[in-house]
Amino acid sequence: MEPAFTLTGVNLSLSTACSAKCIFCPIQRGGGSPRHMSVDIVRNIVEQVQREPALRAVKHFECGENGDAFLNPQALDCLRAIRQHVPDAGISIFTNFQGLDPEIAEILIKEKLVDRLWCNIDGHDETHYRAVKNAGLERARKNIVAFLKHRETAGARVPLNIACVNYHDYYTAIKKNFGFVPTNVKSPSEPLLRKNFGLIRAQWLPQLNQQLDSIQPVKFFFSWAEREKAALQPLNYKRYTCPALHRIRTEAFISPGGLWYACCMDAACELIIGDTTRTPLAELAKSPRRAGLINMLAARKFQEIGGPCKTVNCCEFISLHPIETRVRRVWRRVKPHVHGFMKRFQVRAGSRRLPTDQNAALGG
Ligand code: SF4
Ligand code: SF4
Repeated sequence: MEPAFTLTGVNLSLSTACSAKCIFCPIQRGGGSPRHMSVDIVRNIVEQVQREPALRAVKHFECGENGDAFLNPQALDCLRAIRQHVPDAGISIFTNFQGLDPEIAEILIKEKLVDRLWCNIDGHDETHYRAVKNAGLERARKNIVAFLKHRETAGARVPLNIACVNYHDYYTAIKKNFGFVPTNVKSPSEPLLRKNFGLIRAQWLPQLNQQLDSIQPVKFFFSWAEREKAALQPLNYKRYTCPALHRIRTEAFISPGGLWYACCMDAACELIIGDTTRTPLAELAKSPRRAGLINMLAARKFQEIGGPCKTVNCCEFISLHPIETRVRRVWRRVKPHVHGFMKRFQVRAGSRRLPTDQNAALGG
C-alpha cells in the first residue's frame, strides 16, 4: 500500500457554474454539489491549514477549479479568507474573464488577492471565439484589458497566462484519436474555422507584459468532454496510466459543497474521498480511502475504481497526430521505470567515483 502523501496544494472549486460552454469542457460539472462554495467552507479549510502541523506543506491554492470562480457572489470573500489565514500561500485562478469585471479586477489587485491568472482566448474574432466557447469575445476582451490596466496602474506583478484553443484543431484531434465528432459539436456542418493563433497573438502581444505574461497555442487537448461516447468503445486498460497521479498524491480537490473528490478530471465529482465539513482535512489526507485510491491508480485498476477512471483514455493529453498521442502514452508508462533505473545507476556510478572512506560511509 502506498503511503498517503503530504498535501502541498488545495484546489477549491469556488463555483461549478460557467457562462461559457466550451467544446472541450464536460457539461455535467459538479454533480449534485451546490453551484457555489460558501466562505464558511473556505474558512474551515484555511483555518485547518493555518493551525495543523500536518498541513504546513500546503503552499498553493487554485481557485478556478471546475468552473468560473467569479460567478460566485462570495468569490472575493473566499479569496480574502485564504489570504488572511495562509498569507504566504500562492493563489492562482483559472477564469474565462466573463465574470471578472473591472471592479473585481481593481479589488483583486488592490487587496493582493491573486498571484497568477490563467485564461483562454480561443479566437481572434466573435465567430471563432464563439465556435469554441459559446460565449461572446467582447465582454472577455473588455475585462482582460481592464485587468491589465489596473495591474499596470498599481505596478502589480500578477502574471496572466493565456492559452488558445483552435476549433479546427480540437475537432480534428478528437476525430483522429477517437473516430467520432466531439460531443459538444452539435452540427458537424459547423465551419472548420481556420487556424488563428497568429492573429490572436498579434492582437494581444502589444498589451501584455513580456516579462510577466505568456500566450501559447494549445497543441495537446484533454478529451474529458468525450467520456460518454468514448465509454462505448473497447479499451485496453493496460496501455494507460493516470496522468494526474502526481497531483492526486499531493493535492486536494474540493467541490463547492466541501467534498474532496478524486482529481481535476473528475468533473462530476463522482469519486469522493470524504467530506471536509465533517472530517478534518488532515484526517482525510491520511485516510485509508485516499491511500486506497492512490494505490489502485498506481496499479492501474481503472475499471475497478470506476467513475471517470473507466475512461482513462479521456484523461490524457491527445495530439492532432495519434502517433504522437501513443508515443506520449508509452513514455508515461515507462518513465518511472527509466527514472528508477537511472537513479540506481547514478548512485552506483557515483559511489564508484567516491573515495574509499566516503564509500564506507554510504555502506558501499
Ligand atoms: S473550460 Fe472553463 S470556461 Fe470553458 S465551459 Fe469549462 S469551466 Fe467554462
Ligand atoms: S484516471 Fe481517474 S484519477 Fe486519473 S486523471 Fe483520470 S479520472 Fe482522474
